Amino acid sequence: MTTPQSILKETFGYDAFLPFQHEVIENVLDRRDTLAVMPTGGGKSLCYQIPALLFEGLTVVISPLISLMKDQVEQLRAVGVPALFLNSSLQPEEYQTNMERVRSGVIKLLYVAPETLLTPRLFSLLTDMQVDCLTIDEAHCISEWGHDFRPEYRQLVDVRRRFPDAVCLALTATATMRVRSDIKASLGFSQSNEFVASFDRPNLYIEVVPKDNPAIQTARFLERFKDQSGIIYCFSRKQVDDLADFLTRRGYLVRPYHAGLADDERRRNQEAFIRDDVQIIVATIAFGMGINKPDVRFVLHHDLPKSIESYYQEIGRAGRDGLPAHCLLLYSYNDVAKLRYFINRKDGTERQVAVQHLDAIVRYAEDEVSCRRKPLLEYFGEAYTAQSCDNCDNCTGQAAEQIDITIPAQKFLSCVKRTGERFGAVHVTRVLLGSKDKRILQAGHDRLSTYGIGRELTRKQWAHLSRQMVQMGYLNQDGEYKTLSLTRKAYDALKNRLPIMGHLQEAEERASKKAREVASAYDQALFTLLRAKRKELADEAGVPPYVIFPDRALMEMAAYYPQSDARFLDISGVGQVKANQYGETFMAIIRDYCQEHDIPEGLKEVHRVKDDYGRRYMKVGEAFNEGETVESLMQQYQVKVGTILDHLARYMAVGHTLRPVDDILGLISAATGQQEAAFAAFDELGTAFLRPVFDRLEGSVSYDDLKALRLCYMSQAAEEMRPEG
Ligand code: ADP
Ligand code: ZN
Repeated sequence: MTTPQSILKETFGYDAFLPFQHEVIENVLDRRDTLAVMPTGGGKSLCYQIPALLFEGLTVVISPLISLMKDQVEQLRAVGVPALFLNSSLQPEEYQTNMERVRSGVIKLLYVAPETLLTPRLFSLLTDMQVDCLTIDEAHCISEWGHDFRPEYRQLVDVRRRFPDAVCLALTATATMRVRSDIKASLGFSQSNEFVASFDRPNLYIEVVPKDNPAIQTARFLERFKDQSGIIYCFSRKQVDDLADFLTRRGYLVRPYHAGLADDERRRNQEAFIRDDVQIIVATIAFGMGINKPDVRFVLHHDLPKSIESYYQEIGRAGRDGLPAHCLLLYSYNDVAKLRYFINRKDGTERQVAVQHLDAIVRYAEDEVSCRRKPLLEYFGEAYTAQSCDNCDNCTGQAAEQIDITIPAQKFLSCVKRTGERFGAVHVTRVLLGSKDKRILQAGHDRLSTYGIGRELTRKQWAHLSRQMVQMGYLNQDGEYKTLSLTRKAYDALKNRLPIMGHLQEAEERASKKAREVASAYDQALFTLLRAKRKELADEAGVPPYVIFPDRALMEMAAYYPQSDARFLDISGVGQVKANQYGETFMAIIRDYCQEHDIPEGLKEVHRVKDDYGRRYMKVGEAFNEGETVESLMQQYQVKVGTILDHLARYMAVGHTLRPVDDILGLISAATGQQEAAFAAFDELGTAFLRPVFDRLEGSVSYDDLKALRLCYMSQAAEEMRPEG
């Protein structure tokens, strides 16, 4: 028997419903009019797509966003659902063909713009047919109280009356009470059938930092998102153009997006972003309405948005696929002054409202204490009751005031003691973090009672804490190796359990750490191969890559190595049709890869924690630290010098340090002056890409030399961040 669950799995490839999806679907199937309010990424589409497959007749979806219709129809066709759209973007012949196909009854879902629906031609066709469900997407457009009122939506009231037998489902991501009751009243809904999902987006890491040098801050931020899609919002067109130029010069694939560009160019830029032909869009707020890209990994607000509402909407474009995403706002009082200047030129209530909006976002940005989610959700009328979300800067971060750090301080001190007061901060921290480092194991420190008891803090936080312990006179630090030992004060504190007050530093790049955890759970090298194949297939079919498979599906393939149809169907996001169409292609890659690396197929139920397959850079980095030279590694892996240097850079980029790099210095043939020029170029252009540095030096330093110099540069930078006495 076909049920909503079986369609969820067989057609769409998902194992479980997202919150309220099932309830909404059951209501619609029972033919009760329903209003569903869900945040972006909440999974609204399935709420009507699954019923549409269970109804005998047609489901008509009314949507104001023409570009999204095409996207939805492409995604539905990719899973084998007969769907099409009618709107003004179609050529007359296409329009005619689509009308015929609707008439023939083979179509389950028809997407239309409201003004199209009201044309007599379509209207009379539909009144002759069995329409089982009228879905009104972006239903807030019906309300004058919404932020996006559209007069043509008002006429839907009439449409609704003309299809008395069709059940009506209204969907929106706008939560205010006023808009909600307006929608229900306009469409004549009864009270009871309303579902409001939480607007919290737990996978978004939310952060606000003072803006001091926005260009450099932006460049640093981007270094964490190699090959990953993101949006940067700026205040003005000029800033958009300037920043896009700056980033292009640094080697990023970037396109601008603002109202000053011709429609055609805007559309091309948006398309390039959706298709993964460019990585970053730099935009004024106008960007984003018409896109549905699920794998946006970061949203950076280069300038202050004008209200909490627009801010929330903009960050909401990140992480629709539920995987971790990072939202950073650069805040400066200059921006506030700039916005005030524009507000002062308005008058009457418009000005009042704008002032209120601005005040609210300023309060939000300046708040360094409460969880970021609290004011955001409260603004939309939702109480956020959790003590800490564990995924915003204020919850994970620094406290400006001194706090009780007795427990971590005791852990650190006793770990210094248990390791015999013979080691420096790095070693002690490794023990606390439960590191498998060779030196720890050799010393037998993995058998200490303090081994692995400090995982709640990051390496950087422990380093900071250790510096404080020295400064506050709990620890002595001696000799070339900066060996730590306990002072009398420390013994007193431990013995008498005295409280210790101090600071805990902000957790280092928390979100990217989370992303790294997700990342390390699958095989990166295989993922890259699968991703390339996906892009190739997408380009052939003329659709965005996520229409072929979402990122999560590729990650699961790269974690479980499915090699049979049954196993392939276990993967999230793989339904029957996609398995038939693409299964063999992707499994062929997986099989080859597994054969080459001698990897067995894994069961999805078994959670593979970390595996080293394909993470050669880790092996290379570790071997190097254990004393292997670049030459011996080249021999061992049969690769060129540049490849080993790349592995080492990658090893450092994920947070490891390298032993002193003297023998790397020996590989460099560039003269001292050129080396200095290269360092200056790294200062300015960053280390993520070598091409801009190479160009800056006008090709005078070879790529291999640059790779070696980059390692020295990175080591030096890492050294500067190390705890000193
Ligand atoms: P909305 O329209 O509410 O912003 P979408 O319908 O576009 O959300 O869904 C957001 C993403 O979540 C899409 O990539 C979709 O494929 C995915 N998704 C939807 N339902 C589920 C589910 N039950 N399990 C896993 N992923 C889902
Ligand atoms: Zn929080």
